[in-house]
Amino acid sequence: MTTSMKVAVLSGPFDAGHGSVHVEDRPIPVPGPKEVLVRIKSVGVCGSDTHYYRHGRIGNYLVDRPLVLGHEPSGVIVALGPGVLNLATGQRVSLEPGVPEPLSSQTLAGRYNLDPGVRFFATPPVDGVFAEYAVHPAAFCHPVPDSVSDDAAALLEPLSVAIAAGRAGKVGLGDKVLVAGAGPIGLLAAKVAQLAGGVVTLTDVRAERLELAAHYGASHSYPARAAPATGPEFDVFIDATGAEPAVLDGLARLAPRGRCVLVGMGADTIALPVQLVQGRELVITGTFRYANTWPAAIELAASSAVDLDGLVTSVHGLDDVEAALTVGATPGALKAVVHP
Ligand code: ZN
Repeated sequence: MTTSMKVAVLSGPFDAGHGSVHVEDRPIPVPGPKEVLVRIKSVGVCGSDTHYYRHGRIGNYLVDRPLVLGHEPSGVIVALGPGVLNLATGQRVSLEPGVPEPLSSQTLAGRYNLDPGVRFFATPPVDGVFAEYAVHPAAFCHPVPDSVSDDAAALLEPLSVAIAAGRAGKVGLGDKVLVAGAGPIGLLAAKVAQLAGGVVTLTDVRAERLELAAHYGASHSYPARAAPATGPEFDVFIDATGAEPAVLDGLARLAPRGRCVLVGMGADTIALPVQLVQGRELVITGTFRYANTWPAAIELAASSAVDLDGLVTSVHGLDDVEAALTVGATPGALKAVVHP
């Protein structure tokens, strides 16, 4: 076996409106105790990858040295570190990208996504997986059945975001659910809400994105500005846009005791309509990634309850990562994947 691998690396400067990505050779990492070496097969491209490429930062996370992007990987185990008992070489896996401190208070409370010490692929200074190989803790490599494709196994990550949103909104039987934003996260959030028993309305400013609304569980869909003035009728509102007008519109459409889940990232601050929140006793929560979602995500994908492959609109090689990072802006594009 060769000892070096190809890796796509992002570096600055970012003042031209984006950084640059080059492919370089790096040593194949060696799995330590309770870790495995994975030959990466597919990596979903996420809005956060594109954001780092364009701006070199997200909030306080700064790309101040070369960084490997990509955090939605699947692959095949090719080597085991010492003490790995539950996995074998040849096993196909989906990699959960965030690894917490095992004994932190948030981890022990079951909310390991909120551990401040979590190490997450492609979040500075932790490298991601636009690479031929990666080492990862065995506990965060989830076996997938052959009915789940490599691309679908990668997209269990955005499905996990949607599952976490549905759980946070406590979507139940017959709940009227409004989802704003029909990108990959909004579509998956709509599907998860429908599977949980909700009756889903989906909106997006880009009407062409609503073509898939019914396929992803929405009973109704509207271009955002053409949505009928329904009054406060929704039990749950899931925002997958991060845009202030969408959030304020969604809050206004919530019925008394309605639940708002803020998933989309965009505006850092939004003016809160306090009287509305008080008068209807609205519940507003955010979600930060996910915890304990992979088992459910795997079942939904394996049973074909959720069509993950249907989100993929382009496939790129490692030498084509820059195109993968920018294709999202073109009409009709939903999810790009990289096959290293
Ligand atoms: Zn992502």
